Amino acid sequence: MIDVLNSGQMAPFTAAVVFIFGLLFGSFLNVCIYRIPLKKSIVFPPSSCTKCGHVIKWYENIPVLSWLFLRGKCSGCGDKISLIYPFIELLNALLYLFAFLRFGLSIQLIFILYFISAMIVTAMIDLKTQFVYPAVVLPLAVTGLAFSYFSTETTIYQSLFGILAGAGILLFAILVFYIVTRKIGMGLGDVYILGAIGAYSGPFKIPLILLFASLAGTLFFIAAKLIFKKKRLADNVTMSDLNTTDEKDLDNAIYFGPFLALAGVAVMLLPYEILNIVYPSIF
Ligand SMILES: [Zn+2]
Repeated sequence: MIDVLNSGQMAPFTAAVVFIFGLLFGSFLNVCIYRIPLKKSIVFPPSSCTKCGHVIKWYENIPVLSWLFLRGKCSGCGDKISLIYPFIELLNALLYLFAFLRFGLSIQLIFILYFISAMIVTAMIDLKTQFVYPAVVLPLAVTGLAFSYFSTETTIYQSLFGILAGAGILLFAILVFYIVTRKIGMGLGDVYILGAIGAYSGPFKIPLILLFASLAGTLFFIAAKLIFKKKRLADNVTMSDLNTTDEKDLDNAIYFGPFLALAGVAVMLLPYEILNIVYPSIF
């Protein structure tokens, strides 16, 4: 049955189903991203407008389409609905599609889809609040072991070693940074994130993930600086988008967690052929 759904003729249909599932689940991720930092239940009550309390009807809750249909405005009070909501839905769906192309319809796919969504939630909450919720990332250590158990590329031992290597390397970095500067450079949240990624990736991909994360973080930091300068020159607006009140905050904030999450997902979804070029001897 699974072979049929993966086969050439059926694959486009299966891919479409996976994509739509990604959109729907992405909608649920928006609820998680909004409610987890507020310590609210993620299942009850149904979603409502954060401004006027208008309960969102089922036809106003169709991923991406409803946002377009409502032209980004609440039908109750006309308040703007953030572009972040359809963005998260589309991002989740696209990554689900890539995961299907990489792993096919398989037991592994279930565990990697969970990884993708947990990383999106972690990254978004970290960006918003600079806090990583262990309840979101720590279960990934277990699902990562399961992922490796069903994998033909990583063994369960590599998965275990991946957790230790991922968490260990950042703990070591924090320790060295503390000894040298007497300051805590990174949060424990980053340790959780790379440990969780390690459970999926095994130890060998961790250097690549760190490289990707550093590159993405540096580019983002430069872009944020430029935007801030422009904004300040224009009308003295503070960087509320980044939850910082002044430029000094931007300097102090080390946004590493979201980039680790991004890099972890990217490396896990890299086509086998490309990974093979990077690590020919391992695969
Ligand atoms: Zn409203």
